[in-house]
Amino acid sequence: MPGEESTAWLGGWEGYRVETVERRAGERPEVWIYLGPVPGTPLVCDGCGEACERVHDVARRVIRDLPILDAVTWLSVPRRRVACPRCGPRLERLAWLDRHARVTRRLAASVVRLCAVLPVKQVAAFFGLHWETVKTLDKAALSQRLDPVDLNDVEVLAMDEFAIQRGHRYATVVMEPRTRRVLWVGRDRSREAIRPFFDLLGEAGCRRIKAVAMDMSAAYANELRARCPQAEIVYDLFHVVARYGHDVIDRVRVDEANRLRADRPARKVVKSARWLLLRNRANLTRPQDQVRLDELLAANQALMTVYVLKDELKDLWRQPTRNAAAAAWAAWRDKALASGIAPLARFVRNLTPYVDGIVANATWRLNTSVLEGINNKIKVIKRMAYGFRDDAYFFLKIRAAFPGNP
Ligand SMILES: [Zn+2]
Repeated sequence: MPGEESTAWLGGWEGYRVETVERRAGERPEVWIYLGPVPGTPLVCDGCGEACERVHDVARRVIRDLPILDAVTWLSVPRRRVACPRCGPRLERLAWLDRHARVTRRLAASVVRLCAVLPVKQVAAFFGLHWETVKTLDKAALSQRLDPVDLNDVEVLAMDEFAIQRGHRYATVVMEPRTRRVLWVGRDRSREAIRPFFDLLGEAGCRRIKAVAMDMSAAYANELRARCPQAEIVYDLFHVVARYGHDVIDRVRVDEANRLRADRPARKVVKSARWLLLRNRANLTRPQDQVRLDELLAANQALMTVYVLKDELKDLWRQPTRNAAAAAWAAWRDKALASGIAPLARFVRNLTPYVDGIVANATWRLNTSVLEGINNKIKVIKRMAYGFRDDAYFFLKIRAAFPGNP
């Protein structure tokens, strides 16, 4: 029948021809295509890739293909097992259908392409597939593309934690900061949690590591010292300044608000200024916010001091040499202590054991916006992959989002 021949030609099911086509009307119309083998086409064993003479058995399978016009498209395929003299009974190898797959290769490829830009649920709705089918297809494709990870030239690392469920579950991400390539993501943020990464790196890989950027928690540092004793620990600006915001600016703001208890309007201004104080001034784009910040600082000596010292603290990461960085730290510390502000004195005391790792930035120049950027992107990926409770899939999505640019 000419119609079926052109369907077969358009369909491109290599080695198979169309026996009948049915269109079923309905809310979501369906096209059913019944395929049969083209006589005389060689049979190939999926095990060894060799041609075989005999069919062992046949079972009809229903397979989804890309939609034809507006219709969900089903294939009914007589799936053959060859009697392979080398492998025994094995599925016939087909160019358009993977072993045990329930969708054609081209449908799987389209699903995977859309999953790179849309949430799984939307992709599932678009194709009329179950979300679990979509997730499984995307996960398999990502794993095939990304595993095993190549760690051969890695000398510098950055590691950081992020929240899967705030306050409940955390994970650790390891990246190569120069290329922005995510190398590994694992559950939890403990010393034990990071261990599988170093196992993956292997002994030779561990010996190659020269420097690692991290936050100031002990877990990563302890494991790094055990596995890569030669590596230098580098504390990045992002984490130190975040701690300064929390331990100093927030504390002083609350203290000031308490001091102003009698002056209700002034108290309200100080209490509501958290956002203004923790942002970079350059990021305050509305002129009225700049004015509010200036007025707030002019009226509060302690806030002014800790605000100015925040900007000066950032200069420690911009020093040309280690000596210059050490001198900048000494000058900053003396100013902070001379202020007489108690949270500042505490911050100096707490930061002192980490100063070597801050000074080390003069050598390693790790771009801290990398860690900040990945944190923001993880939040987006979490929204897209949310609700599946499949960490392995979530972690693959993170790695796929940071493939690295050499
Ligand atoms: Zn075989």
